[in-house]
Amino acid sequence: MFLTISTTGSPERPATDLGFLLHKHPGKVQAFSTSHGTAHVFYPEATAERCTAGLLLEVDPVALVRRGQGKGRGGTPDAALAQYVNDRPYAASSLLAVALSGVFRTALKGECVHRPELPDEVRPLRVEIPALPARGGPDLVRRLFAPLGWDSVEVTPVPLDETFPEWGDSRYVRLVLEGELRLADALRGLYVLLPVLDDAKHYWIAADEVDKLMRAGEGWLAEHPESGLITSRYLARHKRLTQDALERLELVRLAEADGSEVEELDNAVDESRDTEERPVPLAVKRRDAILAVLRAVGAARVLDLGCGQGQLVQALLKDPAYTEIVGVDVSVRALNVAAKRLRLERMGERQSSRVRLMQGSLAYTDKRLAGYDAAVLSEVIEHLDLERLPALEYAVFGSARPRTVLVTTPNVEYNVRWESLPAGHVRHGDHRFEWTREEFRSWAGQVAARHGYAVAYVPVGDEDPEVGPPTQMAVFTQLTDADIVDTAATATAATDTPKEGEAA
Ligand code: SAH
Repeated sequence: MFLTISTTGSPERPATDLGFLLHKHPGKVQAFSTSHGTAHVFYPEATAERCTAGLLLEVDPVALVRRGQGKGRGGTPDAALAQYVNDRPYAASSLLAVALSGVFRTALKGECVHRPELPDEVRPLRVEIPALPARGGPDLVRRLFAPLGWDSVEVTPVPLDETFPEWGDSRYVRLVLEGELRLADALRGLYVLLPVLDDAKHYWIAADEVDKLMRAGEGWLAEHPESGLITSRYLARHKRLTQDALERLELVRLAEADGSEVEELDNAVDESRDTEERPVPLAVKRRDAILAVLRAVGAARVLDLGCGQGQLVQALLKDPAYTEIVGVDVSVRALNVAAKRLRLERMGERQSSRVRLMQGSLAYTDKRLAGYDAAVLSEVIEHLDLERLPALEYAVFGSARPRTVLVTTPNVEYNVRWESLPAGHVRHGDHRFEWTREEFRSWAGQVAARHGYAVAYVPVGDEDPEVGPPTQMAVFTQLTDADIVDTAATATAATDTPKEGEAA
């Protein structure tokens, strides 16, 4: 697997600055061990006028197979052989993208310790990849790279066998990109699009792949005409992750469309902005946890009570399993943002018949909310004064009575783990209270008992052994008459029968 990056220059702006940008000395041949083989970096030419860096990844196909990766499809003998005899060593695939991110990490981030001004400079660049697998054909390669700002995207199909042109073309192309770009932008585009074109991502798709994609796609992916295809293929067509990523791209678009609302539109992104790793934002984990429970209980008609700016409503709309989605909030302003996010006005009839936004206060009973499969109160209760909480309790559990109720709220014990939070502070200016795990459970337990629900607790976010998870969630399930009889029977049975080990 091979790719070269070249630039031209002059005595005042020497091409060899490429060495600084890549953090690799033009005078040396260097080797780096990566998880799939050895990556070599060297400079076939390095003068003030022209400088070319080559990245060669020597893949160890046997190691690849041992790691349980790069497998052929199915269990046929051919597939077994394909594990060893495959194109991995030669073609610039996702493995090259991984090597690229490992070897040129700093360059990808757009940083340069010795010459901090360099990464921001736009330079004449030329990237050549002699053998690029191109699932989707040369045309797709062009459609993917052209919007990234390259002046020229040259795609030449590679014949299957040069001596037998009648055999036609292979599925590989030779790609030459030329244009004036920042090096980091060029590398980030490659990092995302190589695996997209390979479309056979070899490594395990973990949740943090979405973060990687967002990072590498910053500044271009949201506006790319093929962002849907790129996202889905990059995430190996993993449905849920793709959905997450598309949602986050939508936030980026909305934020760009209305600069002033950047922070408000997604404080989720904010929560992680300062951390080096940029883990999955807590708000995204919370949404995932909520969606998982809703799916598990098979809800189709769902209330999002205190829906705010509509992030959850938007996620629900994407899944046809939800036939009726109602967002309720007391804030007209939040509802307006939600309507904009959902593009309610431009929505087709079929979609718009599934969703409704309503203004209303949860402190009052509301007949329109009766009879739903599930209601979500995500980060809402802490916005009400404690004295108003019984009113909300009655409106939701006494009057609306959905089959399932999900309530999430911050776990105040976790606050000591937020570095940016001064001791004793709540997480949000509008939080009237924040509860410990014990306080939350005590409230939820009483609510359940008063209104005929069973309650279970689900931690959301990384659980700390001492202080618990950052967010706590209670899942209330309405007890049926049969359940109540059952519970009573079990309770009686338990008192009647001597416990194991007890003397009869
Ligand atoms: N559920 C969203 C928003 C949480 S912010 C999320 O998880 O991201 C809390 C929301 O509750 C705000 O939008 C606020 O307007 C709304 N809210 C507060 N008190 C309310 C009340 N009494 N009735 C309805 N909504 C209320």
